[in-house]
Amino acid sequence: MKPFIPEKIFIEKKVLDTEVTRNILSYFSLLSEQCPKPKNILRDDTLRCTQGDRESVQGDIVFRDDRIELIDRPQEIGLKSSIETGKKHLLIQEYKGEVFEHCPAGKPGMMCCNYFIFPFAQNCHMDCEYCFLQYYLNKQAMVVYANIEELLQKVKKVLENRCHSSPKPLAQAGIQKARLPSVRIGTGEYADSLALDHITGISRLLVPFFRDIDSRLRGNDGGGVILELKTKTNNIENLLQMNPGGSTVVSWSLSPEEIVKNHEHGTSSLTERLEAAQKCLERGYKIGFHFDPIVYYKNWEEGYRNMIEHMAQKIDFKKIEWISLGNLRLTRELKTIMKLRWRESPLAGQEMVRSLDGRFRYPKKIRIHMYQKIWAWILEKRNDQPLYLCMENPDIWREVTTSENLINKAPSPFVIPALRLEPLAGI
Ligand code: SF4
Repeated sequence: MKPFIPEKIFIEKKVLDTEVTRNILSYFSLLSEQCPKPKNILRDDTLRCTQGDRESVQGDIVFRDDRIELIDRPQEIGLKSSIETGKKHLLIQEYKGEVFEHCPAGKPGMMCCNYFIFPFAQNCHMDCEYCFLQYYLNKQAMVVYANIEELLQKVKKVLENRCHSSPKPLAQAGIQKARLPSVRIGTGEYADSLALDHITGISRLLVPFFRDIDSRLRGNDGGGVILELKTKTNNIENLLQMNPGGSTVVSWSLSPEEIVKNHEHGTSSLTERLEAAQKCLERGYKIGFHFDPIVYYKNWEEGYRNMIEHMAQKIDFKKIEWISLGNLRLTRELKTIMKLRWRESPLAGQEMVRSLDGRFRYPKKIRIHMYQKIWAWILEKRNDQPLYLCMENPDIWREVTTSENLINKAPSPFVIPALRLEPLAGI
């Protein structure tokens, strides 16, 4: 993964005295040993934390570096910045929205695995050509939400309430005390879950929190909680320092090495991702993989086959919690940006058709063919591998899972829980 070196750091004054802000400032050595916490600096307006000539004076506070700006109105940062500038500007701010959001795959016409998103950051300093963040964000900055501890208290409340109420379908069936299914919560939708973890230390807050609440809720027969940290990096140093319990799944998006090299700029190589997965397994984490987006190109069969062989050399397939498959999907706006930013890339110009959810995908025949082949290659490695399709419609699911080359294999246990469920009570 390419290093993240911010040219500018904006800090909302409200979150100056939080663990996440302190971690970031310490990482970049922006606080001297004499004044390791911003609040200490706030208390002494005569204190100078540096003798250097790059100090920055912000009201009563003196930072060691002139890259920092304290702000009151984070909503104004990044509104006029380019995508490239936004990737070099770090904005540390408070998050005020809902603590859970349903994954955007849950749209009419699509099958859904009932995935929830916990917002902890927005944007990514790596630069995959197909990344939807290029058009999706309304401001361009690397946003980190620093009030994580407060957000986790809200999460706790929601999960505990859910534990005390039965989900609608079960209640309708007169089953009041059935064990609830686990909730799967991910952080990797609007940002890579681990790309900045060495700087923010956020996993050091998330992993123990979800480990503890998962074991408490399971103990109460309330159904567990799974935290999924999704990444394209090998940035796992913090994870290796912790005992994960059984509640954290670290998952990697995987692509053949030639796709990584040509289209996933600044990310860790396929080998680095697989080696990181093996280390996480050894440390006691559960692991998962996402073949997403699956890209159609001249030698795709060889590419994906080799990738699966490469996985099998590094990882015991029996230890993989799940693998998802999802084809490349683009919106009209994203295609326009890709053509401007990645002029030499063939990805935005491939033949695609518009689906029910408005996204463009490869024609049905190609998608089914690719899924069937890749699904079968995975089952050759482990015939009961939990597998699911991401953001696909029921027709494609049916065609893929009942195709001749798969029908005689063991059915995937994940096919059933991955079907659309009622919204979970309390969320
Ligand atoms: S790693 Fe993920 S979030 Fe980052 S640019 Fe690539 S697709 Fe987007």
